[in-house]
Amino acid sequence: MTQAPSQAPSAAYNSLVSRDKKVLCQTYGRYPLAIERAVGSRLYDVDGREYVDLLSGIAVANLGHSHPELLEVMSRQAQDLIHISNLFYQPKQVELAEKLLSTCACDRVFFCNSGAEANEAAIKLARRFMRTVRYKDAFEIITLSGSFHGRTLATLTATGQSGRIKEGFEPLPEGFTTVPFGDIEALKDAISGKTAAVLIEMVQGEGGVLPLPEAYVRQVQDLCHEANCLFMVDEIQTGLCRTGRFWAHQHFGLSPDVFTTAKGLANGLPMGAMLAKEHVARGFAPGSHATTFGGGGVLSAVASKVVDIMLRDDLAGRARDLGNLAIEAFRKIQTALPDKIRTVRGLGLMIGIELIGPGEAMHAELRERGFVCNLAHGKVLRLLPPLVISADDLLAFAAALEDILRTDT
Ligand SMILES: *Cc1c(COP(=O)(O)O)cnc(C)c1O
Repeated sequence: MTQAPSQAPSAAYNSLVSRDKKVLCQTYGRYPLAIERAVGSRLYDVDGREYVDLLSGIAVANLGHSHPELLEVMSRQAQDLIHISNLFYQPKQVELAEKLLSTCACDRVFFCNSGAEANEAAIKLARRFMRTVRYKDAFEIITLSGSFHGRTLATLTATGQSGRIKEGFEPLPEGFTTVPFGDIEALKDAISGKTAAVLIEMVQGEGGVLPLPEAYVRQVQDLCHEANCLFMVDEIQTGLCRTGRFWAHQHFGLSPDVFTTAKGLANGLPMGAMLAKEHVARGFAPGSHATTFGGGGVLSAVASKVVDIMLRDDLAGRARDLGNLAIEAFRKIQTALPDKIRTVRGLGLMIGIELIGPGEAMHAELRERGFVCNLAHGKVLRLLPPLVISADDLLAFAAALEDILRTDT
């Protein structure tokens, strides 16, 4: 299936790396891999080596790479209209909004270009809703430790992590508070008359694939209702069938006032969306928020097709079934090798395998064997495969993982 990659880096690879290091802002710690082409759940590097993709460009290519139906829509729409700006009514944008709203309990959509911008829109809406609809000076956004909400100044401040993500960027915007993950009493204490919203993920992705307990997320929603502040969910990574439901909050019967999505929305084209209930959306008026590219023709046409295919092919069901199969296979390995794997956790095809001891060598060895995944916090193998991946590919990955764990010293 996958050929064994040769060990020595090629001249093509070495040359690319040295040019990258010369001209790009060095903000990324890149894996030693240069990808040139991708089809379905397969990646091909600059030397033509094949890899099984267990990452989907970080939960983006949910339908796999180079999906023929998406390519067709993309090229057809590009010939009609690529971009015209939000000064005009746009049929494809309205169509996409209608489709997205049919999958959830929200009533209105704002389109933007990334996850961070979707959260930025949610934060701005929460503040403006409190000021202009509730006539209340409530501006504070409460988030959880370990969360990730983006890299703009507001969203990195909302992010419940310390270290490099925040260092050197001070002063950070005011009005953000972080409380410990899973501690409902701490949240109760933190909520005040100044609180505009509580923003949480359903499964913390960048945080190392940590699903929030069901009882806890229900309590968070209840607390928000009691305190009269907004309950907002960041579904940028968990949305669009990734966890086995169209939206992860639907696992728990939740109904957020606002939620955000992005990564998988246009399967690789940059697009984000903020969805809100009717009364909350009234917080925005003409001129209060905008973006040039949001909801453009090609983006909206492709995302519409993404939603159609997800519903037609029941990709939520597929993610649930394949996720269960993979988690069971990994737990079997954990049971056999309890001194090598600490936990296997996840929801649908969003899975973390926490290793005991450092994971760098394991991660590199998996890549040598033709499997691409992510390593979070140096010890969690993070899997976000395309939802169209085969069961055989997942089991082949499990077999490789077990083999490496059994042979390493
Ligand atoms: C990726 C991610 C973001 C940020 O999205 P960008 O498109 O990188 O700005 C925010 N929240 C969550 C949960 C994410 O996974």
